[in-house]
Amino acid sequence: MLIILDRDGVINEYDGNYICSADEWHPIPGSIDAVARLCSAGHRVAIATNQSGIARGYYDTDELDAMHEKLERMVEAAGGCIDFIAYCPHHPDDHCDCRKPLTGLLEQIRSHFHLTSLQGAIMVGDSRKDLEAGFAGGCQPVLVRSGNGKETERHLDARPIPGARVTIYDNLSAFTDALLSAEGW
Ligand SMILES: [Mg+2]
Ligand SMILES: [Zn+2]
Repeated sequence: MLIILDRDGVINEYDGNYICSADEWHPIPGSIDAVARLCSAGHRVAIATNQSGIARGYYDTDELDAMHEKLERMVEAAGGCIDFIAYCPHHPDDHCDCRKPLTGLLEQIRSHFHLTSLQGAIMVGDSRKDLEAGFAGGCQPVLVRSGNGKETERHLDARPIPGARVTIYDNLSAFTDALLSAEGW
């Protein structure tokens, strides 16, 4: 199965402030191991992340690469691998087609894996825009309560995403436990 992860608030700690350097990038406890466990079970893991901090001038693509090298090194040390990272460097005012909730990043991922569709893939995120992008892109949307997730969950109760069945877990580790359990999720 292809598992597409949002980054901030799903893999790494996120309190609403931009993460501007590799030094500021800290994994949520259990998330690196969760990625490794997904890989060991035969799943492929990709990331789809909005990084408007680039357009805003808070950090550049070299610094973003350094964050992702840190992430990939940690995942590899745990025995897993990130297959592909798709990011949107644009500002919301740029009106690009890749900033979630639009589906451009998911389209990049679909193309990278030479898939005809993302049917059967899972999109895990902590924000409504992740769930909307995932659902619009053909994935099963999963919400985690880390990062923005608790607030997203509250708003989702009041305003569901039409047609989507969103499953909710405390964090990436709990989602992974459920997916890999004998009972399935
Ligand atoms: Mg996020
Ligand atoms: Zn974009």
